[in-house]
Amino acid sequence: MAKLRIVNIPVIMLIINIFLSFAVALLISISAIAADSALILNGNFVQGGLVFGQVTPGSKVIIDGHAVRVSADGDFIIGFGRDYPSRTSLKVIYSDGSSKQHELKIAQRKYEIQRIDGLPNDQVNPDADTLVRIKQEQREIRLARDIDEGRLDFKQKFIWPTEGPITGVYGSQRILNGQPRQPHYGIDVAAPVGTSVVAPASGVVSYIGDMYFSGWTVVLDHGHRLSSSFLHLDKVLVQVGDRIQQGETIALVGATGRVTGAHLDWRMNWHTQRIDPGLLVEYEYNSKKQ
Ligand SMILES: [Zn+2]
Repeated sequence: MAKLRIVNIPVIMLIINIFLSFAVALLISISAIAADSALILNGNFVQGGLVFGQVTPGSKVIIDGHAVRVSADGDFIIGFGRDYPSRTSLKVIYSDGSSKQHELKIAQRKYEIQRIDGLPNDQVNPDADTLVRIKQEQREIRLARDIDEGRLDFKQKFIWPTEGPITGVYGSQRILNGQPRQPHYGIDVAAPVGTSVVAPASGVVSYIGDMYFSGWTVVLDHGHRLSSSFLHLDKVLVQVGDRIQQGETIALVGATGRVTGAHLDWRMNWHTQRIDPGLLVEYEYNSKKQ
C-alpha cells in the first residue's frame, strides 16, 4: 500500500508568511491551511488498483476529464484499468473556486499468457445470432455497472467471496483454442459446485442474468460506481435490489457459461475501469509480478 499526502498551500499565504517572520506564526498558518485543503490518497497506484481518497468536503475531484462522486465527508475512489497509462493527473477544485492539479504515477504490470484448449468451437467463435445476444447482455451489464450511488460500502475491508485454489488471475492475455481473445479480468477460485459465494463487502444487487460466456452472473454494487461481478454461478440466492451485508451468502459456485470446470470468477469494475479484486484482498502474486 502506497500512501501519498499532498498539501496545498496557496501562494498568498506564503507571501503573508514572509512578513510574519516568527516561526510560531508560520506554523499556525500552515496547519490552518493544511486542514482546509489537504488531499489524502491511499491505495494501489498500479494497473488494476483502486485508490481511496479524502478531500475537504465540498471539493470537486476530476480524473481523466470525469468528475468523480465525492461524499459529504470528502470520500472518493479512483481506479486504474488493466492498460492504464503510467501517468495521469487528478484535479481538485475547492469550494472557493481555487484548484490544484496533482500528477499521479501508475505502476505498469506484465501480464501472463494463459492458453486454454479444448473449448467447443461455438464458445470461441459464436455465430451471428449468438453475437447479437452477447452484445445485448453486455449493454445490460454495463448499465448495471454504471449505477452511481452514494453508499460507502467500498470502505469496508474486502474479504474473499469463496475459498479455493486460484486458477486464473487478473489481466492474463488469453489464447483460446489457439486464438487470441479478450484478457481475463477476474480472479478465478476453483471450488466444487454448490460452495457458498459470500458478499466480499456490503452492497445492493444490481444485475442478475444468465449470460452466454459468463453463465449465471450477479453484480453487487458497492457505491460510487464500484461493483463486484460473480460469474459461472450454479444458483443465485438473491434478487435485484436486495441490500446485502458483507459475508452474507448470495449464490452458489457453479460451472455455467464458458468454463472448463467449476469455479468462481470474481471481477470488479470502477466506472469504465476494470479493477483487480486480488489487490483488495491482498492476494500474494507469485514471486514475479503479474
Ligand atoms: Zn475466469
